[in-house]
Amino acid sequence: MTATYQFLWIDDDKTREDFKDSLQAARFPGLKRAQLTFTNVKKLDSGVVLSELEKGTEPDLVLMDQFIDTKGVIRQGYSFTEILREKWNRCPIVGVTAARRRDDIDLDKQEQYEDIVSVEDLRQNYYTLFTLAESHRRLAKKTLRTADSLLKLLKAPKDELDRLQTALPQSLKNDFTDTSYPRRLSRWIRHTLQGRPGFLYDRAWAATHLGLNEKGFEKVERQFLGALYSGIFRTKDLWWSSTLRSILFQATGAQKSKLPWQLGGSLKGITESHLSKCHCCSKLYPETLGYEDLGAKARLVPLHLSCSKPHPKYDSSLFFDEIRVMECD
Ligand SMILES: [Zn+2]
Repeated sequence: MTATYQFLWIDDDKTREDFKDSLQAARFPGLKRAQLTFTNVKKLDSGVVLSELEKGTEPDLVLMDQFIDTKGVIRQGYSFTEILREKWNRCPIVGVTAARRRDDIDLDKQEQYEDIVSVEDLRQNYYTLFTLAESHRRLAKKTLRTADSLLKLLKAPKDELDRLQTALPQSLKNDFTDTSYPRRLSRWIRHTLQGRPGFLYDRAWAATHLGLNEKGFEKVERQFLGALYSGIFRTKDLWWSSTLRSILFQATGAQKSKLPWQLGGSLKGITESHLSKCHCCSKLYPETLGYEDLGAKARLVPLHLSCSKPHPKYDSSLFFDEIRVMECD
């Protein structure tokens, strides 16, 4: 394996090659650099392009344009992807779209991709691309035989292992050698485990769980470094909720019967102005975050359970926090 990640970009728009410099210049702690090969396929014969590509070694990541202007019969990124997959079954393939219009792409076609990113958001997603390349490399080096060995890759806290075992979908507990396994695992980790609050909390959820607003959380964040997620497919700052609680109880010396959102105020450096308040009644100790209203652009705000109700658009799930919406009389 080389010291850099090999990225391959397949596109018919040569202006997108302009990303090469910034992509190759990008540096992230703990991750290698990327080297990008840009393949302009405009007006080329798609069959020839594919057979040429397949002669090369499998890259660490492919960026695939959605609609490709070639001479051949294969003109869409997902058809290219399907064919490339027969040869290259390890590397993540990320679809690139012209605009933020993921909804234009059929769901079953979206499934072909590890992810879909619009060109305008691409720079903000460099870290995710590098993480995908690194995590898939690491997965390829491991031989997974049991769900336990999988949980080790998540670096999950011991007290969550049983619950995680149960929360893992059945399809990820066997067939570890199936070629689609790494992609299915990546989707579950990124979209469910990291995408839904429960085992892991993002900044806003972590703050609320400790009874703090985001400014308050910034004050004490260093004390909770040990709760940060450091497993595979780490694409942003996330904290294990159970470790947040252990650190909180230890730091405040409180009894386990206390509620975490009532304890954050006892942390060193925290004053009244750092405490989280309910968006509906303005009182202290909101237990959860919820949406302000049912609109698509609604903000997430701290809410008491009594000042909110379950959001009708979200299914409840045993292992994840309920997504709620404000209900203020
Ligand atoms: Zn309230």
